[in-house]
Amino acid sequence: MAKVAFLGLGVMGYPMAAHLKHKGGHEVTVYNRTVAKAEKWVAEHGGTLARTPAEAAKDKDFVFACVGNDDDLRQVTIGEDGAFAEMKKGAIFIDNTTASAEVARELAAAASAGGFDFLDAPVSGGQAGAENGVLTVMVGGEQAVFDRAKPVIEAFARMVGLMGPVGSGQLTKMINQICIAGLVQGLAEGIHFGKKAGLDIEKVVEVISKGAAGSWQMENRHKTMNAGKYDFGFAVDWMRKDLGICLEEAERNGAKLPVTALIDQFYKEVQQMGGNRWDTSSLLARLEK
Ligand code: NAP
Repeated sequence: MAKVAFLGLGVMGYPMAAHLKHKGGHEVTVYNRTVAKAEKWVAEHGGTLARTPAEAAKDKDFVFACVGNDDDLRQVTIGEDGAFAEMKKGAIFIDNTTASAEVARELAAAASAGGFDFLDAPVSGGQAGAENGVLTVMVGGEQAVFDRAKPVIEAFARMVGLMGPVGSGQLTKMINQICIAGLVQGLAEGIHFGKKAGLDIEKVVEVISKGAAGSWQMENRHKTMNAGKYDFGFAVDWMRKDLGICLEEAERNGAKLPVTALIDQFYKEVQQMGGNRWDTSSLLARLEK
């Protein structure tokens, strides 16, 4: 049993922290900017409530964070009352936010100067994956640090992989999002075309999903897309944040991402349609407007 803190009890963090307590058997302290969520968590799960990230981090062996973007992450780590001021020597800070590889490297350097370690560890698997404790975790950092953290991370994960030095977890998550973006547009176009052609989409998917066109997105989203329902997962606002991170990194490393750039603009149009909180399959709504 370790002493653990969790910063950021959002859609993802709330259940992840609960798995650390119940499945991992750790002593868990939680911090959330909106304190009511932390109060609710402690009422449901026990544990301890901290009023600031610094207070949460004090004397802990592992400190997790799952907040919004780079700036939010800087705020809870090196900002006022940030966790880094109180990190114990030899402790590990594990960041589950989807952020840039740059901020991971920046924070790893700050951690090293403070005598503790940092791992970037973004996740995939969505809300359901977090609630069921079956997330995929893509980690960047040193092998020895990873080996110490892995058994703790496994409380909320089905797959935990070390991808390379600090930043590599975020780079892997970028590839994950790049692979999804174009694929969802392809699926949206297929369904759109099928409807125009007067075919029964259910029947079409039943047949083609068993062949080379099959995908997780097709399997899990075709029904709701066909029904014009877009409230089933990862929000367009989050996807645009993630694609922005991918496109910035591609400018740095010279990768060509023409489809990703185009889909990012399509999602911008979905936002203009009022779809900020719709799920990413709402690319179909854009075709049907
Ligand atoms: P969310 O429900 O919006 O929660 C965000 C959390 O971060 C909240 O606890 C929020 O506090 C906190 N936060 C944001 N900015 C902050 C700041 N400046 N200072 C302190 N706390 C701050 O988001 P989520 O869906 O859990 O996503 C969290 C991260 O996981 C994001 O990077 C997202 O891209 C990534 N992710 C999400 C999914 C998904 O399906 N949702 C899947 C994979 C990865 P308040 O409660 O006070 O607002």
